[in-house]
Amino acid sequence: MPDVLAALPAAPAVLAARLLAWYDAGHRALPWRPEAGALGDPYRVWLSEVMLQQTTVAAVIPYFEKFLASWPTLAELAAAEDAAVMAAWAGLGYYSRARNLLACARAVAAEHGGRFPDTEEGLRALPGVGPYTAAAVAAIAFGRRAAAVDGNVERILARLTDDATPLPAFKPAARALGLALVPAERPGDFAQAAIDLGALVCRPREPDCLLCPWRDVCRARAAGTISQRPLRPPKAEKPHRRGTAFWVERDGCVWLVRRPAKGLLGGMAAFPCTEWSADPPPAALPPGWAATPLNATVRHVFTHFSLDLAVVKLSPPPQADPATAFGPGAWVPMEKIDGLPTVMEKVRAAAMGKNKTLRGDSVPSRTP
Ligand code: SF4
Repeated sequence: MPDVLAALPAAPAVLAARLLAWYDAGHRALPWRPEAGALGDPYRVWLSEVMLQQTTVAAVIPYFEKFLASWPTLAELAAAEDAAVMAAWAGLGYYSRARNLLACARAVAAEHGGRFPDTEEGLRALPGVGPYTAAAVAAIAFGRRAAAVDGNVERILARLTDDATPLPAFKPAARALGLALVPAERPGDFAQAAIDLGALVCRPREPDCLLCPWRDVCRARAAGTISQRPLRPPKAEKPHRRGTAFWVERDGCVWLVRRPAKGLLGGMAAFPCTEWSADPPPAALPPGWAATPLNATVRHVFTHFSLDLAVVKLSPPPQADPATAFGPGAWVPMEKIDGLPTVMEKVRAAAMGKNKTLRGDSVPSRTP
């Protein structure tokens, strides 16, 4: 790890003061963000930070407002039904976050009297709260001198210091650099200023260096190495999987199941599916059921693999119970199907003839 002070191109206090002045000159007004100089509400800050993991600000805002309208306080969220929270989260992706959100809310309600711990260590001990979220909440809601270093801040720091250490080996150095920069006064505003700098100015591609408060000291800018910072190992190609989704229809209703609580799309409502694998066996259809394969492929890209789903419409005979073939579930009127994750929304669109071939991408990394 480099000597932190030697790695920085100016004194930490100077760099921090410049970033805060830049923030004060005009920052984004976000629904969870406190006024400059004020502390944030812990519930709102925590909720927004969990939602913002791997997700854009634009995508998060309507979900944040929906959650606050449904569950205005931590106590109300802690008392919510699992299925209601999972349905409200549907479409935001990375569903383990929703399960962790509930587990954390319930832990705070049951073990901390409904109040978030006010230190980084105390926050870190909560379910689903990682180092970044703990630091961000500690700084923004409690004014603690904590370094909230995510991928965006790593990028800024790698450029500011022109550090050629490839990720992920650069992470410990980034954390040390980030902590060195956090001022004792206004650490929460500093964290939010760094978030804005990464989102609006020091973007992954084509950073707007002329607007940067560190432009005259930035070492990567001087060296002409901005596009190579942070250095990344070559990307491995994503594996591809295939499978079949079943649209089981009877009398205007469709059979929906709930995915197992653990694992991909855990706890979410879904259409029955075969396994998703590189070379899945042919889909076994229940004998006597009318089957209509659709001429449509649903394509979805998850973080670790891409998926092509064939869609088959099935009409069970009057006495047949879909639970026998596909496990427990429920008939849901077509017009009332709600709270599906994005890949299942694509299946629905294909089955209802809204699209022939549906394509989609994974949720991007946290960006503006
Ligand atoms: S000068 Fe450019 S590359 Fe350097 S920190 Fe600022 S925006 Fe990023």
